[in-house]
Amino acid sequence: MANENGIAAGDRFSCEACGRESIAKLTRVMDGWTYVGDRLACALCGAPVAAAEGASPAAPAPPSSRQAVDRLAALLDTRPEARGSLGPVEKGRFCRDCVHFLRHPFVSRCLLRDKPVEPMQDCDDFQRRPEAKPQDGPPDPPGKDAESR
Ligand SMILES: [Zn+2]
Repeated sequence: MANENGIAAGDRFSCEACGRESIAKLTRVMDGWTYVGDRLACALCGAPVAAAEGASPAAPAPPSSRQAVDRLAALLDTRPEARGSLGPVEKGRFCRDCVHFLRHPFVSRCLLRDKPVEPMQDCDDFQRRPEAKPQDGPPDPPGKDAESR
């Protein structure tokens, strides 16, 4: 019987627990009074052979840590996807996005009803403005063009 390190019962190996060249011994694993299975252990100190990872340079990495990396990668992969699904799917019918909305620094007006409206108000006569230009920022200060040239 060979375990994942390629060590079989009776094989010589260097034990990490006691630091000696030792012999792998097949021992019974008991869970209380229940016989669980056989395990290779150091004949000198009784440490399980599976713990002696450094004895076999053929194994690049223990499979458990590689699984952890895979799970981390999966987590990182799914995170942007989950964030995208939380984003606002449909925009509100706010007056500021409406074709009838006339933006003004002090009092914005609805051209359809000819009365002052709030930018975040919503309206039954809402008609989305064709180009979705962000209108949230403050209007440009006057004279900016003159300064730049
Ligand atoms: Zn040992």
